[in-house]
Amino acid sequence: SSNPPCSSFLCFSLRPSSSSSRAMASHIVGYPRIGPKRELKFALESFWDGKSSAEELHKVGAELRSAIWMQMAEAGIKYIPSNTFSFYDQVLDTTAMLGAVPDRYHWNGTQIGFDIYFSMARGNASLPPMEITKWFDTNYHYIVPELGPHLNFSYASRKPVDEYNQAKVLGIDTIPVLVGPVSYLLLSKPAKAVEKSFSLLSLIDNIIPIYKEVVAELKAAGATWIQFDEPMLVKDLEAHQLEAFTYAYAELESSLSGWNVLVQTYFADVPAEAYKVLTSLKAVTAYGFDLVRGTKTLDLIKQGFPPGKFLFAGVVDGRNIWANNLASSLNTLQALGDIVGKEKVVVSTSCSLLHTAVDVVNETKLDEEIKSWLAFAAQKVVEVNALAKALSGQMEEVFFSANAAALASRKSSPRVTNETVQKAVAALKGSDHRRATNVSVRLDAQQQKLNLPILPTTTIGSFPQTADLRRVRHEFKAKKISEEDYINFIKEEINNVVKFQEELDIDVLVHGEPERNDMVEYFGEQLSGFVFTANGWVQSYGSRCVKPPIIYGDVSRPKPMTVFWSSTAQSLTKRPMKGMLTGPVTILNWSFVRDDQPRFETCYQIALAMKDEVEDLEKSGITVIQIDEAALREGLPLRKSEEAFYLNWAVHSFRITNSGVKDTTQIHTHMCYSNFNEIIHSIIDMDADVISIENSRSDKLLSVFREGVKYSAGIGPGVYDIHSPRIPPTEEIADRINKMLAVLESNILWVNPDCGLKTRKYSEVKSALTNMVASAKLIRNQL
Ligand code: GLN
Ligand code: ZN
Repeated sequence: SSNPPCSSFLCFSLRPSSSSSRAMASHIVGYPRIGPKRELKFALESFWDGKSSAEELHKVGAELRSAIWMQMAEAGIKYIPSNTFSFYDQVLDTTAMLGAVPDRYHWNGTQIGFDIYFSMARGNASLPPMEITKWFDTNYHYIVPELGPHLNFSYASRKPVDEYNQAKVLGIDTIPVLVGPVSYLLLSKPAKAVEKSFSLLSLIDNIIPIYKEVVAELKAAGATWIQFDEPMLVKDLEAHQLEAFTYAYAELESSLSGWNVLVQTYFADVPAEAYKVLTSLKAVTAYGFDLVRGTKTLDLIKQGFPPGKFLFAGVVDGRNIWANNLASSLNTLQALGDIVGKEKVVVSTSCSLLHTAVDVVNETKLDEEIKSWLAFAAQKVVEVNALAKALSGQMEEVFFSANAAALASRKSSPRVTNETVQKAVAALKGSDHRRATNVSVRLDAQQQKLNLPILPTTTIGSFPQTADLRRVRHEFKAKKISEEDYINFIKEEINNVVKFQEELDIDVLVHGEPERNDMVEYFGEQLSGFVFTANGWVQSYGSRCVKPPIIYGDVSRPKPMTVFWSSTAQSLTKRPMKGMLTGPVTILNWSFVRDDQPRFETCYQIALAMKDEVEDLEKSGITVIQIDEAALREGLPLRKSEEAFYLNWAVHSFRITNSGVKDTTQIHTHMCYSNFNEIIHSIIDMDADVISIENSRSDKLLSVFREGVKYSAGIGPGVYDIHSPRIPPTEEIADRINKMLAVLESNILWVNPDCGLKTRKYSEVKSALTNMVASAKLIRNQL
């Protein structure tokens, strides 16, 4: 029979690989919900804009869910997850399920609808949203529950049961997924008014009864399995935190008895202590482990696994876009089968597929060879099933040999390997790049040349990205306007930004980054070894998605990337113009990175490419160069024992980029991360001449210096929050600067905003920067 042509996203390219056989032991931890063409994003934004109704939004959600379930069922997956869809965030869904709505939203205690739900997520006309923060070491952000003893928890969202029932109507028996009770509490923060001595884990007795209600309803609906996600088990937990798992699952035991209960962990190996606690939980009948990032868990399993229980083996990487090495995964699975019993091994993904792109079939413009190396979520589902079948003795030879051929082509492809780059990186071994003189000597040399006032003012790089600007960039990319017209337009924009800053009397200028759509994409497009997708979106938070570039090969820089624009900008002013680059660690952390060599090696390659750029900028007469490392903190491993190694190569990569410049060339870096106290020594070790950092939202930074950390480089703690349209009054900024002067020497302090200005309007930027310059001058006069 022939299939009708696809007309909507409901129609996936995947079809059952064979119509025979019952489903083999295969499982998917979770699936992207944004949709292959970001259908959910557009439905959400249209609803928020008042352009479509709640019914329409619900309809899109239901369609996406059924499409995903059908796709997995057709692929042959046995344990298909439900309740991994979300209109915003799965942790917020759990908050709704538990009725843990912060008081300020004035919830009336009934079932939670879109109004309360989205108020918590996004705020409303009168109330700010709840805080978002990074989900472990991913680029996904969850909504942090605000808990306290005052909350009246109640079963307030039947979403898990509703989703289970929806799938059942389609004839698909799913495994409902809940954020586990202990991880939920450990991911929360105490509400503002709560006393210091309050312990979040003390709420376990308040939430367990609600989990019991959910479990009872799911049982009644016919579910035979349940999955509790307890990713906190991979962190360095204290004894009392581990005890909370024992306690919680003992409390749940009577409700769960006779049921199949999977506790799912991901993102790292489970430490030995946690493994002991986890595998001793009586109520639990199956364990899910990330065997991609958590290879040490394999050793623990070898040393002992509870007899009769299931092992959900996460061998297909949910954090990356590379095709699985099926032969090697099958080896691992067979070895595990020998330990725990073949019939007890379930093939799974390393974590939810939320963290990878959705479907490679939508990449119609991607080079065919590179495409054959990739597997997005939809392809990973097929890989999991193929592995499960192979494990049970039904190897799909054609699929396996196609996979082997793709891996072989990737391994031997001349586009992956660049001998010169490999040699250059190999030559770095054991070296330690540092500028020859120390920072105080350099700052003196730079000041002789730059002759800046005390408390110099500057900005972080980008200026407002107007609709015109976006349109022109777009037209140029689509070849609708000529290169000459494009260059003239951008030059004019730079000229305006330069004049604007001169009028404001800012000391160190920027060109405004009008030629850049994104600080990583701009460089990735010009470096070799990178490729870009058309639809490889990954949810970041709510309706926001990012499209990380894919680093597939050795990285090199064919030609200068920023020199033309920076020197053009410098030619328009006598004031110093900052050259503006993205650092190697940030480029790495915001990309899909190749998995065939260690991350640090790829990072060193990028660092060497950026070093060439830094030196070309210097040669062209640029004397101040900023190398942004906005995402350096983001790459910090989940476990303390691995932090030092990461920080060492990350900081070294940064230093490589500028180790070759003259003393008189001033190297700036920028980080938008407020809670960086924990890595302050690494930041100092970066040895930049000046660092600008986010500070205005927390002032946490100052406490580091109060505690006596010795700091002698230049530093610009942001004086106002660029995330808000609010104009900071001059007195307020002056007050901030004075607070900094109480802990830092005046000769190292810079005055700048928290981050780039690209999301703001010109009117806001003008008033805010006017006040910023005025406050710097005010204090200069008092010094
Ligand atoms: N230079 C970049 C800008 O100003 C930095 C952005 C960032 O730190 N995220 O936009
Ligand atoms: Zn920033």
